[in-house]
Amino acid sequence: MKITAICGATAAICILALVLGAGCTTDRQQEIAQPGGTAGENSYTTVLDAGALDARLEQYPVSALSAAEALDILYMQEEEKLARDVYRVFSDAWGMQIFNNIGDAEQTHLDSVTVLIDRYGLDGASATAAPGVFDHAELQALYDDLTETGQRSPEDAIRAAALVEETDIVDLRDAMSRTDKEDVRYVYDNLKRGSENHLRAFVRILEQQGGSYAPVILTPAEYTEIITTAVRPGGFT
Ligand code: MN
Ligand code: MN
Repeated sequence: MKITAICGATAAICILALVLGAGCTTDRQQEIAQPGGTAGENSYTTVLDAGALDARLEQYPVSALSAAEALDILYMQEEEKLARDVYRVFSDAWGMQIFNNIGDAEQTHLDSVTVLIDRYGLDGASATAAPGVFDHAELQALYDDLTETGQRSPEDAIRAAALVEETDIVDLRDAMSRTDKEDVRYVYDNLKRGSENHLRAFVRILEQQGGSYAPVILTPAEYTEIITTAVRPGGFT
């Protein structure tokens, strides 16, 4: 295990990246044998420094949220919890390291939205509900559906996970279109970057095993742009 400090482009925030596991091997055979067990996916495991994020957000003004902005923040918090909870189920079902690693990243995402929730005095108590329990009926239904299909086979789990990431990307993009708050947009943009990295990771595993993935929610053009973009480090991905 090694701990690496990753500094964003502005150097205004440093986030501890906890790099777990087998080290930096790039051996393709090992990667196929144990998807997610190599450095590529391990780099998605980060630990949020909530104080540093809060300090970063301090440079932006705070003004009253609209009702839509508040609802979006609470929804995104639960959506990050959904990703975390779904990947825990898949990790338990299949023992694949990628679900541990990206599940840990989802905890970081959840924590980063909680920083926003605290900053604006919202009630984010649903984020502490038991795994698999959600306030938003839509997210409850999505969780129930994805965990059912993803427990059929490892491939079904990876496909369900890619769908989680697609959903996250689209919902974050929509939420960004409904806010001009720089602090909120900063958090959403980092979450979206993380989701794009995760989507690339899940698709890569499918392709390594001879499969392919077609987008379910994203348009083909949007999907292609994400998949052909290199992993963007930094932020709390
Ligand atoms: Mn996420
Ligand atoms: Mn994700």
